[in-house]
Amino acid sequence: MEIKLLNYTKDPDGICFQTAKICYQSKSNDKEGLLNKIIKAGHLSILEHASFTFLIKDISRVASHQLVRHRIASFTQQSHRYTKATGFFTPEKIQQDAQAKEIFNELTKKALSVYEELLNLGLPKEDARYILPCSIVSDIIVTMNARELLHFFTLRTCQKAQKEIQDIAIEMLKICKKEAPIIFKNAGPPCTRGRCYERKPCEDINQIRHFFAEL
Ligand SMILES: Cc1cc2nc3c(=O)[nH]c(=O)nc-3n(C[C@H](O)[C@H](O)[C@H](O)COP(=O)(O)OP(=O)(O)OC[C@H]3O[C@@H](n4cnc5c(N)ncnc54)[C@H](O)[C@@H]3O)c2cc1C
Repeated sequence: MEIKLLNYTKDPDGICFQTAKICYQSKSNDKEGLLNKIIKAGHLSILEHASFTFLIKDISRVASHQLVRHRIASFTQQSHRYTKATGFFTPEKIQQDAQAKEIFNELTKKALSVYEELLNLGLPKEDARYILPCSIVSDIIVTMNARELLHFFTLRTCQKAQKEIQDIAIEMLKICKKEAPIIFKNAGPPCTRGRCYERKPCEDINQIRHFFAEL
């Protein structure tokens, strides 16, 4: 998996600060103070004026399916109707278990060879792809505004989210924090801003808080 920031609103903190100032006809120069205030107050439409476009390479169909459930975003995904499917994503736990990895690789290799056979028979890619497991990878472009990104990070950087999308969300958050340090200062799972609402909170909650504070 590889993540690249393709484009974003220049000076995201700045544009949102300007927006907030116009909203309140404020003369303030305290960017951090005003942005923190509007985020705390839930006046989040202000954050919709900054957006970010990411390219995510080699994402599995499992994770891309989870990603596209976020409706306040724009997506364009590599077409397996028109382009040939190539590789697979192997989850970390399978990679770490020699026997599981062998079983996994055996099946994905077989699936890919059946896919090739179907193509060789003259079947279109859009039909041959039905044989592929959901670990098959593709590239996807996603554009989200800062409001939706904060929501996405709340849900998907949490340890309760699946590892692949969690890793993607953490990488995206790292990038966002660099470009918009005020907006994304407290972004991350709910426990970074207060209590955890899960039935079984993580045992290492302080470590998690520290991780996101230092990201
Ligand atoms: C840990 C985890 C487990 C999950 N498990 C499952 C599962 O088992 N099965 C499953 O189907 N999904 C599952 N999901 C997906 C989940 O239900 C959401 O579809 C997904 O997280 C997108 O979140 P969202 O709807 O809040 O956000 P977005 O689609 O990103 O929307 C952002 C916000 O806009 C508002 N909004 C958007 N559309 C509407 C609308 N039509 N009506 C009203 N308000 C709207 C809501 O406030 C929403 O929170 C899981 C998600 C997580 C994080």
